[in-house]
Amino acid sequence: MLRINKAHDNPKKSLYNVIYIFSGLFVLIIAYFSYFLLVRSEDTINNAYNNREKVLAERVLRGKIISSDGEVLAETIINEDGSESRYYPYKDMLAHIVGRYDKGLTGIEEAENIRLLSVNRNSFGNMLNDMVGEKSPGNNVITTLNLKLQQVAYDALGDRRGAVVVMEPSTGKLLVMVSKPSYDPNTINVQWDSLVKDDEEGSPLYNRATQGLYPPGSTFKLHTALEYIRENPDYSGYLNDCTGSISYDGMTIHCYNGKAHGEVDLAEAFARSCNTSFSLIGKDLDINAFRLMCEDFLFNKTLPVAMASSQSRFELKEGSSGIKEKMQTAIGQGNTLISPLHNLMIASAVANNGVMMKPYVVDRIESYSGKMIKGYVPQKYATPMTVTEADFLKRLMRGVVTDGTANELNSLEVPVAGKTGSAEQEGKPAHAWFIGFAPVGEPEIAISVIVENSGSGSEYAVPIARKILDAYFNNEAD
Ligand SMILES: [Zn+2]
Repeated sequence: MLRINKAHDNPKKSLYNVIYIFSGLFVLIIAYFSYFLLVRSEDTINNAYNNREKVLAERVLRGKIISSDGEVLAETIINEDGSESRYYPYKDMLAHIVGRYDKGLTGIEEAENIRLLSVNRNSFGNMLNDMVGEKSPGNNVITTLNLKLQQVAYDALGDRRGAVVVMEPSTGKLLVMVSKPSYDPNTINVQWDSLVKDDEEGSPLYNRATQGLYPPGSTFKLHTALEYIRENPDYSGYLNDCTGSISYDGMTIHCYNGKAHGEVDLAEAFARSCNTSFSLIGKDLDINAFRLMCEDFLFNKTLPVAMASSQSRFELKEGSSGIKEKMQTAIGQGNTLISPLHNLMIASAVANNGVMMKPYVVDRIESYSGKMIKGYVPQKYATPMTVTEADFLKRLMRGVVTDGTANELNSLEVPVAGKTGSAEQEGKPAHAWFIGFAPVGEPEIAISVIVENSGSGSEYAVPIARKILDAYFNNEAD
């Protein structure tokens, strides 16, 4: 109070104060531009676009990557000797999705590189930092990842190879992405040689969720069922008597463990995953229409994601594919291959009334002080089926839980819909699949699980989905 009164008493003095401040600022600005012209201009002019990152990295302390629940997933720490290290507190738990900084950027580190190296605050602060040789703090990337659920999925997969991905079907928001085996990005430089050597066998560097391609097994029966109802408007009268296997031209297709399902309608054949019924359905399908439908679901297409991914394959072709290949394809064997993320997008499209959303993992960019710089808006990507068709598939998938191979999920309080798969491997146990969503009425989460060389989907993938559903709906991991 006293000071203010004094200033009022002496307007000349406060005017001088203002002049001093502005003169000081002017000197600073001149100094900054001189410094820039003499020292910095050369590198700025000489550096092409791909060197922009290098220039930024000299001036900016790389921002943090943060989970949706506010936990730091990656940050840069300054060591005692002044050098910098990128630190990943959760080690190998999020290595594929968060990515790594050393040995070539991957994951979010790669996709959001420039934003992590950008600074949004007043240029006066940046200028001061520049002059005293201190780096300005880069923007933070706030992800959609749910750390608690990621931990549940990571633990549930245990020591098995495989992947788990979880998404919000109505938005495309990715909540979980686990790939095993994994590696610790903190020690990548030390481990690099052995990781690269392992690459042929276990491929820990590989993101199985987006880059892994597997036969879809019986999860593909969703497509076969959809094509069948499109071609056969009288599908409600479908009946087949399953004896446990079917032979055609020297090829025999078995139901899982040779089980005879007896007389089944379409819903029962789907719920019990009857290979005999579905390979017979596949025998008479129109190859061209089947192919076009699968391509509407993004088979043979690049997935719309900001990370390394593989194209799923559907290879049936009019003229070159025989009946046997059609029968195999209809049950998810044959030459068809799919990534766990793609299968998740398919389950999510069914959950979301036929609309496939573009998956995303970055919710927003914030300045170091928490000011919102840029937010992500969910985007519709494709509509591969009608609302009526999605409803029909939802009912089939609900039957898998109430009356079929994912019956283990029926005791959960939340109503779940899904499809299991057991992708058979020559001389090895099958890859176990589960895709599904819950609650059936208004789905909040969709899940895709693959467990390599383990056995049936019911036995190995369903229990993992159960743990995730239980954590999400009962332990408030949201
Ligand atoms: Zn059967």
